[in-house]
Amino acid sequence: MREPFPFSAIVGQEEMKQALLIAAVDPVVGGVLVFGDRGTGKSTAVRALAGLLPPMRAVRDCRYHCDPAAGAALCAECQAREAPRAEILLPVPVVDMPLGATEDRVVGALDLERALAHGEKSFEPGLLARANRGFLYIDEVNLLEDHLVDLLIDVAASGENVVEREGLSVRHPARFVLVGSGNPEEGELRPQLLDRFGLSVEITTPQDIASRIDIVRRRDAYERDPAGFAAKWAPEDTRTRQRIEAARALLPGVDVPDAVLESATRLCMALGTDGLRGELTLLRAARALAALMGETTVNDGHLQRIAPSSLRHRLRRDPLDEAGSSVRVTRAMSEVFAA
Ligand SMILES: [Zn+2]
Repeated sequence: MREPFPFSAIVGQEEMKQALLIAAVDPVVGGVLVFGDRGTGKSTAVRALAGLLPPMRAVRDCRYHCDPAAGAALCAECQAREAPRAEILLPVPVVDMPLGATEDRVVGALDLERALAHGEKSFEPGLLARANRGFLYIDEVNLLEDHLVDLLIDVAASGENVVEREGLSVRHPARFVLVGSGNPEEGELRPQLLDRFGLSVEITTPQDIASRIDIVRRRDAYERDPAGFAAKWAPEDTRTRQRIEAARALLPGVDVPDAVLESATRLCMALGTDGLRGELTLLRAARALAALMGETTVNDGHLQRIAPSSLRHRLRRDPLDEAGSSVRVTRAMSEVFAA
């Protein structure tokens, strides 16, 4: 397998990189939706990020690559294994979700006949098992059947996949960061689904000459010599990996002052977002961003940096307001933070 394109070598797209880093620090933020033109390197960025993450310790021969330190969250098969369980190191998985995938392929298939004949559960793990502890990437999520998107979001939120057929049931850990890409011109996502993604980002093909030249040069250098190109960017990728690891360690101790939470609430009220998911996402994403910056207290600056990606997909369409959602978020921020 050839080296993935280095994360650090991606030109521009700062908002997408920031959202992916936040998801890597705190998966609870709840997935990233990437809107953009074709060929803007959406899946490249996900693979690049997974490629720079530290390899994961996993129980050897476990079909869900359980974390040996997971304790009660180990799968039933690992719980039945005698300690000490043999371990291996595995790269963080990135699993592609094909658009035509059946539900069995996604959640796994329970073979009832075999189970009845042999008096045992016979389960063939699906894509959710493969994605455990990694990333599940859905290209053109707007074309995926609604019930599958619902299912993926539910599993991503609960961290567990439960398959039930005729009184038999199998459950296994399935913690992953959901990354969906969408092309706004090819079918819309239901507002209820949009709202369930933590962050959304918009990416476009850069319109300035210098960036486009950089992109072409780097892509060309990578295609000609993937290993050499990756080696050149390795020091920068290593620094990013260290930032992620430091942020993960810092995260539990990051404090959110009441005044900052109040700003978050004012912002959501000014925008008229439904429910409290907007505030919760702002809070979590701002905390992860502060941790990434090596800070232990969230401030309004963190909030402002993550507000567009936390909120723009939660706005109701306003027939009297022609402005795009990013503009509306920026406008609300200038009102809330000017006060
Ligand atoms: Zn296991």
